[in-house]
Amino acid sequence: MQRDHDIVIVGGGMVGAALAARLGQAGKRVGLVERGQPPSAPEGDFDLRISSLNARSLDFIEASGATLPAERCCPFRHIEVWNQEGKGHSLFSASDSDLDQFGIFIENRALQHALWQRLEALPTVTCYTGTAPLSTLVSGRARWVELDDGQTLSAALVVGADGARSQLRALAGIDVTTHDYHQRAMIINVETALPQQDVSWQCFTPTGPLAMLPLPGQRASLVWYDHADTTQAREALDDEALKAAIEAAYPERLGAITRIVARASFPIKRQHAKRYIGNRLALIGDAAHVVHPLAGQGLNIGLHDADTLAELILEQRDPGASLALHRFECQRRLANQAMIAATDSFHHLFTGAKPLRQLGDLSLHIAERLPFAKRLMMQQANGFSPFKRR
Ligand SMILES: Cc1cc2nc3c(=O)[nH]c(=O)nc-3n(C[C@H](O)[C@H](O)[C@H](O)COP(=O)(O)OP(=O)(O)OC[C@H]3O[C@@H](n4cnc5c(N)ncnc54)[C@H](O)[C@@H]3O)c2cc1C
Repeated sequence: MQRDHDIVIVGGGMVGAALAARLGQAGKRVGLVERGQPPSAPEGDFDLRISSLNARSLDFIEASGATLPAERCCPFRHIEVWNQEGKGHSLFSASDSDLDQFGIFIENRALQHALWQRLEALPTVTCYTGTAPLSTLVSGRARWVELDDGQTLSAALVVGADGARSQLRALAGIDVTTHDYHQRAMIINVETALPQQDVSWQCFTPTGPLAMLPLPGQRASLVWYDHADTTQAREALDDEALKAAIEAAYPERLGAITRIVARASFPIKRQHAKRYIGNRLALIGDAAHVVHPLAGQGLNIGLHDADTLAELILEQRDPGASLALHRFECQRRLANQAMIAATDSFHHLFTGAKPLRQLGDLSLHIAERLPFAKRLMMQQANGFSPFKRR
């Protein structure tokens, strides 16, 4: 069977579903292809995969018409960063940037579920689940996508939002550059004796950062970066031994751990597609770039790709026009490259040789003492140009 759309999006994760909802909200005929099934509503214990959403991402989600479940979201108003072995310490407060909050922490599943709920209510969006592309080609003013369930879709623009191992990127012959940090991030959801507040903190150590992302109530998501072999040994600990290891390594302010809720670890890699665009094709989100998660920006920059692409599509009669796609690539590659460079330098400044770590310490000192520099950094982290006031 053959179906025509204005835009076909491959990948219904957070980034692809957000773009589909934004375009559907504007009346575009969207086909969303997802190889999995629609996400279920989150309930009970919080999921392990948590993400921060900054101000620009929240604006974009709001423009898509999705409603986030307030009871599963934790707003944060401060970010505190310090160096365990030096004196460098910086506290960033939303009020310094004239904001009520920096953003929220939300489970990936809760965000994806809210977006899919929105898609169900949009009459011009069709979701194709449990299927994936087999091939793609351009003919005339359309790109065709053949699916493995026998259907064929056509659209003026096909968007790859199918994650780091993007099949659409491979089918389009777009190569990537990669870098392995030889580190893993162990994520541990815990319940604590102390209530967590509206501050997210990160303590740099020579083996990698220890981060605390607050969740509603007496809950937190801990991210413990370390060498791959040390992390694997830590993963083998039983709950009591892991509690003791956390309490020994983490700063006292975390308080006692009353329960280990869940844990898992992920390899840390950087990846960047050599091109974001092709003939009637664009890549967004992790399909285009994967950054070190220490600054919590991977999803945010993916949503900013979707925001920029949606704006350009909505300005055009032909959503796949090559001039618009080149503008998309130009704007987003520059911003994403800057984020990759920033997260990379944070990683090397705090886990490199001692002189580099001293430089890292000094940079936190300087950031703390220069309100102008702090403000610029926060505007970048919120996804807005430092030269534009909101
Ligand atoms: C430890 C860790 C912590 C992180 N913390 C943060 C954070 O705090 N803040 C932040 O902004 N980012 C964070 N990130 C990054 C963030 O998780 C990713 O950037 C984000 O999930 C990317 O979303 P995506 O929709 O582009 O890709 P994905 O989430 O990978 O979604 C891709 C979707 O495409 C579907 N798919 C895949 N292949 C196909 C196919 N062939 N056909 C059809 N469908 C397909 C998949 O089923 C999936 O639904 C973190 C990452 C890690 C590893």
